[in-house]
Amino acid sequence: MDHFLYQNGVLHAEDVPLPEIAAAVGTPFYVYSTATLLRHFTLFDEALNWTDHLVCYAMKAASNQAILKTLAQAGAGMDVVSGGEYLRAKAAGVPGDRIVFSGVGKTAEEIHMALTGGIRQFNVESEPEMVVLNRVAGEVGVTAPITIRVNPDVDAKTHAKIATGKSENKFGIPIARAREVYAMAAAMEHLDVIGIDVHIGSQLTELGPFEQAYLKVAELTEQLRADGHDIRRLDLGGGLGIPYTRSNEAPPLPMEFGALIQRTVGHLGCEIEIEPGRLIAGNAGLMVSGVIYVKSGEGRDFLILDGAMNDLIRPAMYEAYHDIIPVTEPAPGTEQAPFDIVGPVCESGDTFAKQRMMPPVAAGELVAFRSAGAYGAVMSSEYNTRPLIPEVLVKGDQYAVIRPRPTFDEIINRDTIPEWL
Ligand SMILES: *Cc1c(COP(=O)(O)O)cnc(C)c1O
Repeated sequence: MDHFLYQNGVLHAEDVPLPEIAAAVGTPFYVYSTATLLRHFTLFDEALNWTDHLVCYAMKAASNQAILKTLAQAGAGMDVVSGGEYLRAKAAGVPGDRIVFSGVGKTAEEIHMALTGGIRQFNVESEPEMVVLNRVAGEVGVTAPITIRVNPDVDAKTHAKIATGKSENKFGIPIARAREVYAMAAAMEHLDVIGIDVHIGSQLTELGPFEQAYLKVAELTEQLRADGHDIRRLDLGGGLGIPYTRSNEAPPLPMEFGALIQRTVGHLGCEIEIEPGRLIAGNAGLMVSGVIYVKSGEGRDFLILDGAMNDLIRPAMYEAYHDIIPVTEPAPGTEQAPFDIVGPVCESGDTFAKQRMMPPVAAGELVAFRSAGAYGAVMSSEYNTRPLIPEVLVKGDQYAVIRPRPTFDEIINRDTIPEWL
């Protein structure tokens, strides 16, 4: 079910026409659909209904508190990867016992924050982290529940910048050394070893790599239990991909992912956690941008948008593809033409698409980037002193600005000038 459809010739987010939002907040902006967020969360939740489970939304994908609250009210936990994300989840009302803390470089301060504020578990990624966690837990006077993230050395077959499960990646401990590291953890006074964690990458479009990883986790669970560890929770990560083009073959569905989990580790009787981010938020958001100029170049035409790489960096960073469609529905039979679609930032990398076939759009019109809900707003910056763009949440025929655009004064006044100047 797509909640971004043309109605009466105009693209809507659920029941709100996008030009209405554009008139209210200006362009560019991000807009999210509540119905899509909830639907995607529910698909995962139902896919694990065969067992005790918690779907922990990987909030780094899109972390506005309104999004977190929408998902938390539906029963989601959160996967956080920094102290800031931890505080943001708490601010959105997520209880500590539904927050898992992942990440390869947790500092003592971040660990302290989570131990005092309440945490479901730490997904520990190295021996030195384990030592710090044990020390801080001792200082706080608590026992820290942990899983250890193992690196199963499988090829996730995804973009190199978002693969995390090969032995050359910085994440987790090599699965071959897991028993030794679990023995170390078990000997630490202030740690409670409860499970195993694995996350092999993002935007996976087939189940094979998950299957390889989960079979290794199942085998490790048996070995660790034989070694005397009470392994009772498996955190199986996120990473299920989304369709970025409507023509492409669709990636596996959450239901198939859930069935794979049942098949590979279901017999172990563990509580299951998963950490999907992209699949929950990706197709729940658009970036809407205005066309500033249509410029005819040497043998090619450019659409120059008011959105740029600082607002949506995925094309520049990952060579990512986004569908870009006009907000005014083209008349049937409209001829398409190739355009280079670019932003105004002074970098050649500020190119969203080259020679993309598009119905003609004029200066002043709006275009929408589809599948921009995940790793969009959260990765934006103020490069070129361009204000962070507003985020808007739609629910049925209502919408609300969930992050306003900062003023230029707010941005400029953040700098402080040394007294010698
Ligand atoms: C990024 C990340 C996720 C989410 O990945 P998606 O591809 O967005 O589902 C889950 N777990 C960890 C540890 C991550 O770093």
